[in-house]
Amino acid sequence: ATIGADLDRTIAAHPDREALVDVPSGRRWTYAEFGAAVDEVARGLLAHGIAKGDRVGIWAVNCPEWVFVQYATARLGVIMVNINPAYRAHELEYVLKQAGISLLVASLAHKGSDYRALVDQVRHKCPELRDVVYIGDPSWDVLTASAERIPRERVAAAQAELSCDDPVNIQYTSGTTGFPKGATLSHHNILNNGYWVGRTVGYTEQDRICIPVPLYHCFGMVMANLAATSHGACMVLPAPSFDPAATLRAVEQERCTSLYGVPTMFIAELNLPDFASYDLSSLRTGIMAGSPCPVEVMKRVVAEMHMAEVSICYGMTETSPVSLQTRRDDDLEHRTGTVGRVLPHIEVKVVDPATGVTVPRGTAGELCTRGYSVMLGYWDEPERTAEAVDAGRWMHTGDLAMMREDGYVEIVGRIKDMIIRGGENVYPREIEEFLYAHPKIQDVQVVGVPHERYGEEVLACVIPSDPADPLTLEELRAFCAQQLAHYKIPSRLQILAGFPMTVSGKVRKIELREKWTEGAA
Ligand code: ATP
Ligand code: MG
Repeated sequence: ATIGADLDRTIAAHPDREALVDVPSGRRWTYAEFGAAVDEVARGLLAHGIAKGDRVGIWAVNCPEWVFVQYATARLGVIMVNINPAYRAHELEYVLKQAGISLLVASLAHKGSDYRALVDQVRHKCPELRDVVYIGDPSWDVLTASAERIPRERVAAAQAELSCDDPVNIQYTSGTTGFPKGATLSHHNILNNGYWVGRTVGYTEQDRICIPVPLYHCFGMVMANLAATSHGACMVLPAPSFDPAATLRAVEQERCTSLYGVPTMFIAELNLPDFASYDLSSLRTGIMAGSPCPVEVMKRVVAEMHMAEVSICYGMTETSPVSLQTRRDDDLEHRTGTVGRVLPHIEVKVVDPATGVTVPRGTAGELCTRGYSVMLGYWDEPERTAEAVDAGRWMHTGDLAMMREDGYVEIVGRIKDMIIRGGENVYPREIEEFLYAHPKIQDVQVVGVPHERYGEEVLACVIPSDPADPLTLEELRAFCAQQLAHYKIPSRLQILAGFPMTVSGKVRKIELREKWTEGAA
């Protein structure tokens, strides 16, 4: 089915169940009301001259209008382009041009970002951009009011023409390892994936999903929104951008059954001084994904947040995103120590990155995935697409993984992050997992930095549990001495108050490396 047709199925089945709640404004929509709001935006887009195949950009923090635009564009066969709300003018200009966006929907302002001022800086350089609509501004009211000029049947007619293989989104990758790439995804790609992710955690129309992750990223718009609407569950938006206290308050107030987050978000919530005062007893499940999920954090989420069935997902924007996921009935070891097994209708293999030959189970190699979930390609970048997706339609993930005998997969780390110290391969993930157990460490990242003799050496960047009493390098090395081989033990320590992050909540190790190297030089 297409995303619009699937939404119609849910509206027909559960018209009176809640579809969407915006906690900051207190606004809420049942599925019938949600369908009407989506149609109004779709008709408004038609009235603005937008048609199938056109690109509409959305550059906004989390809000209900974001979700309306997502489904309205899908109904019309318009390609929505998700733009990272952290972008500045030159990045915005790049995306507007690269994707040929003709209408942009943007937030007005958020936390010191004046979106209108940034748009004004670049607008004249983007001839294809005809209209800009700001959420919470008269231009938004003009968009919805113009719906009156368009008969309802036009939306249904546009939707009926679509094929599920038509492109529906250009989603940019997080930009963790460099400049983001725009993955073009079809209805079939992301609707199926959202459905399977939701089915794997057991969603029904009884579920209420708290979504503190950014909607602009696949974690929000696919794993949360499409998982919710394909099962009749409710989307709960706690805040425009991540706020740990607002997140837990929303869980409590809205009696959410599921909570999403990247590991650093869960760490921030667990470390709130008043954490114990929130009633989280409505939680049953949730998803942790996006970057390595430390075993210690998973255990605390299970024990202290009532999320007995919490699931880890592994995926990437280019594969819609999820390919591996833990199941509800997996035991704690498999649910914390692995990213689970492959989802239905997807294939995975682990290959030697040099030869492309599949390695034996239990051996690390590059993870490759294939199936319905592999993107149509990077938008307008055939060479980069060919580098990532081979002739056999296998997506080369750039991640090192190991498949156990029983089919569960462990993610070893990104190939780009691997440290080669004096000829020995060091996997940051293994050292990070080990260091998480140290009481003076709240969060830790391990990266390789240049070293004259060894090529690279191991640097640990630590956010201390107590800034007044930070860990010393001697303490760190003594802690590691009995447990880790000498070449894995960090020889450098940097105490930090926070890590450089992407908006999707990933640590930009590339910046940690650059900072250290600049500081040392
Ligand atoms: P870019 O490709 O622009 O550098 P990115 O790879 O972070 O950024 P995304 O598509 O958002 O962009 O993220 C996919 C990557 O996130 C995966 O390739 C993997 O490295 C990491 N990842 C996702 N889930 C997990 C997980 N459960 N465990 C470990 N790593 C994960
Ligand atoms: Mg990537």
